[in-house]
Amino acid sequence: MKYNTETINSIAKQLANILTRAVREQQKANQGLPNIAQIESAMREVLRQVGVQALGIYLNSMQSTPMNELPCECGGVLHYQRMRPATVISVFGKVTYERAYYAGCDCKQGKAPLDKQIGLEPGAVTAGLSALLALAGIEFSYEKSPEWLKAYLLFDIAENTVRSETEQMGVLQAEQEKELVKQSQDETYLQTRECDPGRAPQRLYGSMDAAKVRIEPRPKKGEKPEEHEDWRDMKVLSWFETERVPPAQCSMRQRQKVEREQIAQRAKNIRYFCDIMEAEDFGKLLWATGCSLNADLCPELIFLGDGAVWIWNLVSKYYPDAIQIIDWYHAEEHLEGVATAAFSDRSERTRWLEDVTQALWEGQVEAVIVACEALAASCLEAHKAVNYFYSNAERMRYDRFRSAGYMIGSGTVESACKQIVTHRLKLPGAQWIVMGAVHTAKARAAWLSGQWSDLCAARSALPLAI
Ligand SMILES: [Zn+2]
Repeated sequence: MKYNTETINSIAKQLANILTRAVREQQKANQGLPNIAQIESAMREVLRQVGVQALGIYLNSMQSTPMNELPCECGGVLHYQRMRPATVISVFGKVTYERAYYAGCDCKQGKAPLDKQIGLEPGAVTAGLSALLALAGIEFSYEKSPEWLKAYLLFDIAENTVRSETEQMGVLQAEQEKELVKQSQDETYLQTRECDPGRAPQRLYGSMDAAKVRIEPRPKKGEKPEEHEDWRDMKVLSWFETERVPPAQCSMRQRQKVEREQIAQRAKNIRYFCDIMEAEDFGKLLWATGCSLNADLCPELIFLGDGAVWIWNLVSKYYPDAIQIIDWYHAEEHLEGVATAAFSDRSERTRWLEDVTQALWEGQVEAVIVACEALAASCLEAHKAVNYFYSNAERMRYDRFRSAGYMIGSGTVESACKQIVTHRLKLPGAQWIVMGAVHTAKARAAWLSGQWSDLCAARSALPLAI
């Protein structure tokens, strides 16, 4: 949209005059000269009120001369009644406008066609405000969000409004995912895609993990809330590519990695997906989102994960040719667990740990198993570790993976679990029912994946779709 600079300038002059007059009044009352922060606040409030008025005037002006009759969706006829006011909550606050209202059909349904044309739902928040509310809702607890929003928007928003607008974004994300799942099970689609796949990266990574979310269903009368407490697994999947980190941009940790690995990599084009569901259903999401990124057509597909059996079962089922790698940090953590449990002497512990870690780094999993077996009789941790390294041996050939230039630590998806589950779903005061947790997490995942504008576009189209 283009605006006339001269008009803007003349409005600005008028605004400045309003403020100057208000400041003079204040000085006359011996209240001193306001500082710049006070002027800024005052000007923002004036601009907000101007916004309320201007949006109202604009919406009124959109109403053309009403027709006497309109066809009704039921097949009957609607008759013009009167101009009827409606209120919406916009980014400036509550805005009231008038539009033509039709009724009198046998179906008893009333209608104001302008609402639908502009994409407004009387009594509800506008799509523009909805996007901002949801942005607060994916970052802060619903309890805290109104405080943050008031600082930016300058008016009060109810906690429940933030919650429902944020969850609405998650619902839209869930619908898009459902659509992908449907598409990925359609043979015709899959065949067409294979003929003309579009972009498939040379090397693509997938990574999966899970984190616990505390679910508190509303207790029935007479029951205590804690009797209902329940922990559910939020499964998180990420797809990403990698790029070399230019030496100048390396953090301290990355520099140390370069010295050890000769190459520092970071994830790019990261896409996150999450849900609370059984592994079997999550597999459908894994396949569907993979199809949308041509994961199955990539020359090199690499999966990173911890030792969880569901992860590798899904990878083997949907991507049997993918390279499977146990996240280095998880493997290393197992060795640390064994060392702590098995040795009370600090220097003994350190020496053992250094040796086995080096062996693991070289991909000598058999040597690691032997070292753990030697401790297994007297140490339960070591006994468990033997099983862990034995069943995952081929996923720990770190010497080979490193020489192929693969990323061996899935910091990406772990930080996804942290960013989605820990940083949002585990905030103090957060109380979840399953769908609330799922939709909030999905909205947040879309934001972290750079897909926010897609959701906002879908949200803008919403009232039209109803
Ligand atoms: Zn009707």
